[in-house]
Amino acid sequence: MSRFAKDPAALRDVSRRAFLQIAASIAALPVMDRAAWALPAAARLADDPFTLGVASGDPSPTGVVLWTRLAPKPLQLDGGMTPEAVDVSWVVASDERLSKIVKQGVVRAGPDTGHAVHVEVEGLDADRWYFYGFRTRDHASPVGRTRTMPADDVMPASLTFAFASCQHFEHGYYNAYRGMAADSPDMVFFLGDYIYEYAGEKKKTDSKDARVRIHEGPKLKSVADYRRRYAQYRSDAALTSMHASCPWWVTWDDHEFENNYANLVSSLKDVDPKAFVVQRAASYRAYYEHMPLRPSSIPKGPDMQLFRKGRFGRLMDFHVLDTRQYRTDQVNGDGQRLLDDDAYSPENTILGRRQREWLEAALGASKGTWNLLAQQVMMGAVGRRSKTPGAYTYSMDQWPGYMDERNKLLRFLGEKKVANPVVITGDIHSNWVNNLRVGDREGKGPIVGTEFVGTSISSGGNGTEVPKALEDLLSDNPSLKWHSAERGYVRCVVTPKSWRTDYVAAPDVLTQGAGVVTRKSFEVAAGSPGV
Ligand code: FE
Ligand code: CA
Repeated sequence: MSRFAKDPAALRDVSRRAFLQIAASIAALPVMDRAAWALPAAARLADDPFTLGVASGDPSPTGVVLWTRLAPKPLQLDGGMTPEAVDVSWVVASDERLSKIVKQGVVRAGPDTGHAVHVEVEGLDADRWYFYGFRTRDHASPVGRTRTMPADDVMPASLTFAFASCQHFEHGYYNAYRGMAADSPDMVFFLGDYIYEYAGEKKKTDSKDARVRIHEGPKLKSVADYRRRYAQYRSDAALTSMHASCPWWVTWDDHEFENNYANLVSSLKDVDPKAFVVQRAASYRAYYEHMPLRPSSIPKGPDMQLFRKGRFGRLMDFHVLDTRQYRTDQVNGDGQRLLDDDAYSPENTILGRRQREWLEAALGASKGTWNLLAQQVMMGAVGRRSKTPGAYTYSMDQWPGYMDERNKLLRFLGEKKVANPVVITGDIHSNWVNNLRVGDREGKGPIVGTEFVGTSISSGGNGTEVPKALEDLLSDNPSLKWHSAERGYVRCVVTPKSWRTDYVAAPDVLTQGAGVVTRKSFEVAAGSPGV
């Protein structure tokens, strides 16, 4: 693994060298190319505009999206940019010094996108690592590393990917990403709560409710507010460095907009519905601007299509879901409730009809050995003891609040013999392993898939290895196989025969640079769902 992923200082070092290398390579280019590479700068920038680093995402066998955003003063509402557009050159090379250039071009970054840049590179070789960088007339970005996917008809020997969610900036440092970078995964899935929308709190050192650093500004409302929040989160070098290490597939949950929202319904009282739509548009726009997404994801007003699919050769098809934008309002409120007729109503949907039809078609057409569903909220029905003995409550914000649709999807997986479904999930700041079946509450019926719920990067502060009520949860829920509540991330190693999931804990997120430890591993054999 190249050292820059582990060490942000090395990354800066490489970028300085890369800058000189780029200058040298420009001199060697034919005249037309040199003109393209030297063209930059409608406006000159005195300060380094690449403070937010670089990222890549949504790779295919032939291309990938490269991302950066110009923000010389990231904590200012305008990022420190004047309204002028700036030309930004980009380059993809086969070496870390960016001397062996394979693709290059120039794009214009303007105030309409917060000076964000999304480059869709095409014409790359399949199953290869590449390096990339950006520059303006006066500054060069750090160098990023990315890769293409194997060709669709090739069976790769293995795939290593990581997934993560929930990185509340105030609650802890992103130590998990240092461990993740050391794994050198082929790609990362981020499953939501990339930012939190809350106002800055007071710095507290009390370890139970610590705030190790403070959100800039009030509760988010305008597009400028949301932009500044993303910029502040990217000031964590471990996060920025992980983005520069490999391509990411991102999806959101609720906090990229507002806690526990459902489509256009706020979970708060007395919200003006019109203002809420405007705020959703602002939050979706800032999300797009900060993620390495294809321009086909550009929001149209308050709508943005994020559900999409990808493929790692014949080894794995993956389906990235959006369970927030199209869902019906949570029944009985958002919290824990007994499962009643409302929870089972076929009127409830967590996917929305269009996404569900798309998902069923994609699963039906999949040729992958494994089928990954990368999504937000827990699908396994895990009951908690209520005050009434023998009666259990379930989270109405999760799939059990949409029980009819959940069971239809699980039945579909079984009846259509979808190959080896694995669900990965975020949201609840704790680790859970569930064998999925329609009757998972009773432990009855065939297991149709496996769910790995990953804990938060930092949200909730330091966690615990043995959560409250663990014994009750395990004895009451026969399909629940493991649960813990430390911070961390999850690593998956996938081969044609087996799937290994390693839960990696970051036990101390209150100390910057504290280490990680692999706590628990699970194996799924191809052809035999469940752990
Ligand atoms: Fe969260
Ligand atoms: Ca959430």
